Amino acid sequence: MKNRSIGVEDLELETSKTDKTSETSEDQIENRRSSFRVFYKKYSTLLYILTIFYSVAITLWLVLDEIFYLINFGIIGTSIGLGFGLWPVFKRSKKHIARRISQVLVGGYMFFGLGFGLIYLIWGYIQPENMQLEGFWFWLLAGQFAAGVIHYSIAKIFGPTLFGRGWCGWTCWTAAILDLLPWKKSPGRKKLWGHLRYVLFILSTLLVIILVFVFNYTLSSTTGILDFTGSYSGPDLKSSIFQIHEFWWFFIGNLFYFAVGIALAIVLKDNRAFCKYVCPIVPLMKVGSRASIMKIAVDTEKCIQCGACEKACPMDIKILTYADKSSRVTSTECIQCMECISVCPKSAIKETFRFDIGFKEYLKLKEAS
Ligand code: SF4
Ligand code: SF4
Ligand code: SF4
Repeated sequence: MKNRSIGVEDLELETSKTDKTSETSEDQIENRRSSFRVFYKKYSTLLYILTIFYSVAITLWLVLDEIFYLINFGIIGTSIGLGFGLWPVFKRSKKHIARRISQVLVGGYMFFGLGFGLIYLIWGYIQPENMQLEGFWFWLLAGQFAAGVIHYSIAKIFGPTLFGRGWCGWTCWTAAILDLLPWKKSPGRKKLWGHLRYVLFILSTLLVIILVFVFNYTLSSTTGILDFTGSYSGPDLKSSIFQIHEFWWFFIGNLFYFAVGIALAIVLKDNRAFCKYVCPIVPLMKVGSRASIMKIAVDTEKCIQCGACEKACPMDIKILTYADKSSRVTSTECIQCMECISVCPKSAIKETFRFDIGFKEYLKLKEAS
């Protein structure tokens, strides 16, 4: 009896030990799963962006057999990744700094390094590239898949199907300066003024077509062709840079953008007025971003309708109207700046990844005066 009793107790003890052990290992698995979920929730956008840019870097490097593309898109992807990586780490009030870091790094590299030819001046390699709309058309009409064509394909034509107008929110050098101005809260959008962007897009395109087909002004006549095979062999890089027409196209184009952008921001008290009414690149970006996989979405279960997200949106998007219609923010005016996410007191907004297309633009409009 005694022996049997001891046996039962032992058995119960063993069973309880086994339960605890299996409970512990189940708990551990569950803990690991929940840590992974937290990590994924925090860094899914970063992982998504890094995958895109590193894939582009490796693909172009292997296909075009040119190491420049690996370095170039490696630098750009890492710089954007740094911003997206720091964004979840920073406090709400400091999150905009993460975006500034990406803007400064990518914008600075492309503006000074590629556009103004700093790389060319230091290493005699990669002549200045005009990455304005006109540069894109010149390269395209020259039948060359290089410089402006690659930049526009990735950032502004096909890229937006993956990351919307993320270029505008995280990397554009014009907006990097405009975002520093004091009119961050948008006063609303002037009705119809946005059509000006289409007029300027057509005028820029026509300018290049006329120069190429009427005046025979081609890339070879502008000496703007990238020298992938070797470095510049001339004696004086500094003086030679002023002979390169691409340099002047880029310089004058940007001077115009910055002057008009800053003047409009002051007059309309709206940092992003240039993006809303003037920038001729937007018509191109709108096409791809319509079908963007990455879009903002509101969890209506968590939302308390406080309106803070709409007040913070620099692009006047009626985020809650999309939410009311059980839709993600399909507006092609969204620049993926994530300001709405950072101000939401209930963490009810996040970036989401799936395919959809929405054709409605819900924007806070003001009558043109
Ligand atoms: S709209 Fe034009 S100026 Fe504004 S961020 Fe986009 S590309 Fe830059
Ligand atoms: S800030 Fe958040 S809680 Fe407030 S209205 Fe927007 S989604 Fe809803
Ligand atoms: S909806 Fe959000 S992410 Fe899109 S522009 Fe407005 S604030 Fe930025």
